[in-house]
Amino acid sequence: MSAIQSFWSVPQPDGEPPFWMCMSCLSEVFYRKVPMPDCPTCHGVSTYEAFTLEAIRDWGTEDLVAKADLAHQAANLEPASAASAHSVD
Ligand SMILES: [Zn+2]
Repeated sequence: MSAIQSFWSVPQPDGEPPFWMCMSCLSEVFYRKVPMPDCPTCHGVSTYEAFTLEAIRDWGTEDLVAKADLAHQAANLEPASAASAHSVD
């Protein structure tokens, strides 16, 4: 049992939306990665689907949009070659 969240890195093919949101609880969103082994909030497995930031802003809650923005900013602080994910609070 670990308190540290692990992630799968998700490759982003051209044209694929980079944000991964939990369709079960609609309260977790990550940028180019998904939590493993399950959603940290609802513990759903394979509940994540890809969306664009525009889509999240269109219908997401303020909290969800804020999470997406933070995830995007955190990812952009890392070198592009270091795609392997580490946990960011
Ligand atoms: Zn969830």
